Amino acid sequence: MQVVFDRGVYLPELDLWLDSLRKRDLGLISHAHSDHTARHSRPILTPNTRRLLGDYLKRSDPVTLEYHEPLDTPGYTLTLYPAGHCLGSAQALVESKSTGGRLLYTGDIKVRPSPTNEPIEAPACDTLVIESTYGQPRYVFPSQEDVLATAFRTLRNWLSKGERPVVQGYTLGKSQELLSHLLDEGFDVEVENSIFEKALVYQDAGIHFESQFRRFVGDWPEGSVLLCPPGRKSRDAVKGFRGVRTMELTGWALGGGRHWGRRGDASLPYSDHPDFNELVEYVERVQPTQVYTINGFPDLAAHLRSEGYPAVHLARNGEHQVDTGVQMKLL
Ligand SMILES: [Zn+2]
Repeated sequence: MQVVFDRGVYLPELDLWLDSLRKRDLGLISHAHSDHTARHSRPILTPNTRRLLGDYLKRSDPVTLEYHEPLDTPGYTLTLYPAGHCLGSAQALVESKSTGGRLLYTGDIKVRPSPTNEPIEAPACDTLVIESTYGQPRYVFPSQEDVLATAFRTLRNWLSKGERPVVQGYTLGKSQELLSHLLDEGFDVEVENSIFEKALVYQDAGIHFESQFRRFVGDWPEGSVLLCPPGRKSRDAVKGFRGVRTMELTGWALGGGRHWGRRGDASLPYSDHPDFNELVEYVERVQPTQVYTINGFPDLAAHLRSEGYPAVHLARNGEHQVDTGVQMKLL
């Protein structure tokens, strides 16, 4: 069985694309982040990913698959497993009926616990295709508990001085997780519209939030925290308010760069991706005999080779490694 990498992973023998950014006939959408989606004719996805994508797929004919529910083709079985990255996120395990060989495609994963995501599972495989977003040894995150404790202490400090805290997280996944933690800690939370809409989908899917939260419509009661995506939405939301303090929660906080264009007043490492050590541990858990890393740093593959795993990094356009059209022999 062969695999082709070309802005998405292609399995020719199933005529199946995994997270292609171009419209395809049959395409797995591992989760509802826009850098993994296209309007395929027949997208394969979990019921919760379908819920989150809403009208996006209104012209498609989706194939919804529960976790662990096998999809049989003449030569292969495809099964989805929870990825822990956001609601509905899935990994795909493709098993050959003739050889028994197993390919695991992770999509984006998160291995740390989350109150709002289905917990990740780690099915054993022979060939692993894994995302390597933070696949560089300098990305080692502190514990979530420590980061959250720092975040809560800082927010309370700002509120005690009459300041207005903005917590920035990406619209889908991170923000609903942060919302859950903030409500558990007893904060009053105003929620920017796009995050609010996704949070309603989470509630529809059965995710419990400890207390009420409000849609932000320009009224920002003193003493409450505003949860908002970074960038323009955040700048627009805080216009006209005094004493605004910004907290960004992103794994890139460790890099010291200006990932979101502006440094927050507090910048804390909190991610919905694994850090370097967690990536290596995940590879060890699923016990592959061949590894391909995608969508991140090539350092992870280099490290895995030094640990004895045959590992190759497949880069996107514009990076230095081998690029599109890479043929991988599998199974
Ligand atoms: Zn993602």
